Amino acid sequence: MLLPLLRRSWSAAALGFVYAGAVSAQLTPRESRIAEAVAAHQADAVALLQELVDINSGTLNAAGQRAVYDVLAPRFEALGFTVEYVVPAVENRGGHLVARRSGTSGPHLLLIGHLDTVFEEDSPFQRWELVNDSVARGPGASDMKGGDVVIWSALAAMEAEGALDGATITVVMTGDEERPGDPVVEARRALVEAGEAADIALGFEGGTRGLGVIARRSSSSWRLEVEARTAHSSGVFNDNVGAGAIYEAARILEDFYSEIRGEENLTFNASTIVGGTEAAWDDVTARGTAFGKTNVVPPVAIVTGDIRTITDDQLQRTREKMRQIVARSLPGTSARITFHDGYPSMPPTDANRDLLAVLSGVSQDLGVGPVAPFDPGRRGAADISFVASVVDAGLDGLGPEGSGSHTVEETVNLRSLERAAQRAALLMTRLVGN
Ligand SMILES: [Zn+2]
Repeated sequence: MLLPLLRRSWSAAALGFVYAGAVSAQLTPRESRIAEAVAAHQADAVALLQELVDINSGTLNAAGQRAVYDVLAPRFEALGFTVEYVVPAVENRGGHLVARRSGTSGPHLLLIGHLDTVFEEDSPFQRWELVNDSVARGPGASDMKGGDVVIWSALAAMEAEGALDGATITVVMTGDEERPGDPVVEARRALVEAGEAADIALGFEGGTRGLGVIARRSSSSWRLEVEARTAHSSGVFNDNVGAGAIYEAARILEDFYSEIRGEENLTFNASTIVGGTEAAWDDVTARGTAFGKTNVVPPVAIVTGDIRTITDDQLQRTREKMRQIVARSLPGTSARITFHDGYPSMPPTDANRDLLAVLSGVSQDLGVGPVAPFDPGRRGAADISFVASVVDAGLDGLGPEGSGSHTVEETVNLRSLERAAQRAALLMTRLVGN
C-alpha cells in the first residue's frame, strides 16, 4: 500500500487562490471564449467519439487498445503533448496512452481515462448508433471513450485560447481499467508513477448531473477454504467426526453477516460457494465443481467474495475481524481465509472537498448549478483510486452523463459531452491559474 505524501506547501496556497477566484459568480472574458471554443468543436468531438466507439477495444483485445491509441495520439500531439504507448509487464493486456506537456505555472495535473471497454470481440454490442439528437448508444460511449473525448475537447479549447501555456499536464489512459492485468502493481505502474509526479488527479469516468466524486471505495477479494474430517453421515456431530466443512463454512458466513455487517460504507459480498467430498474453484475462469453424496460428511468447502471499504484502515480492521471469526472452528474442522488486493480506496479528504468547491464554482458560473459530493457507497472502484494516496487532491466523475454502462444498452448524453468539456476546461484553467 502506498503512503500518503505530505501536502506540498504551494498546493494549499494554489487551491486557496483558485477557490477565491471560483466564487466570482461569472466567467471572465477568456473563460467565456474557452467555453465557446468547446461548443465550436462539438461536432468534431462527437465525430471523434463515434470513431473511437466503432473500434472494438475490449480489455483482452490489445490490438484494439492500440487502434484507439493511434486515433488519439495525434490529437494530443497537435496540442503540444509528447505521447507514448506504454505496454505494462503483464500478460494478455494492451498498453496505456501517456501524454505529457510541462511548463512552469500552477499545479501538475493528472487526467485519467481508459482505452478499453468491457465489450470483447465476441460481444453483440460493437457499433455507434444515434438514438436521437442528443443521445447515442454504443460500447464505451460513456464508459469511457466519452470521458476520453471530454479530456481532449477540454484541452483543445484551452489550447485555442492560450490557457495551456505554461501548464504541466499528464494524461494517462489505461488499456485495462475494466479488468486490470496481473500483477496489478505492474499493470498500474505507469499510472502510479504519473500520480507521484502530479499534484492533482482528475478522473473522467461518467458523471452525474450536480454531483462530483470525492471518494471511492476500495474493492478487493477473499477466499475461504474449509477442511474437515469426513465419515459416514450417521456420525456427524459426534466427538470423532465433528460438523463437516459445509456447516463450518455456513457458521463463518453467518458470523460475518451478524458480527461485521453494518458499518457505514462497508460491504462484503459472499459470491460463490462449492463444497462436498471434492470441491474446486478456479479464479481465472470463475467456475467451480463439486462432488459428494448426502450420506457423507463433507471434508471441503470453498467460498469466495469481495470487500468494499472507504479507507484502508476500514479494510484492515474488517480483514482482522474475518480472520478472528474464521479461527473459531466448529469441532473437527479448520479454515483459513486469504485476501487479494484489488483497488485501494480514495477517502473523502478536505483537499478533495476544496477541489470540488472549485468545480462547483465553475459549474455555477457556467449557469448549470452547484456540484455536491456523490455518495461513495453507490460507486464502484476506478483507476483514480490508485493515485489517491500520492496526489494532494483528486476528483472523479468529470466525464459525460450516460446510462446502462457495462450493458448493451450503454448510452451517452451528447449535450453533457459539451457541458462536461466546458466544465473541465474551466476547472483546469482556474487550477493552472496562468
Ligand atoms: Zn470506466
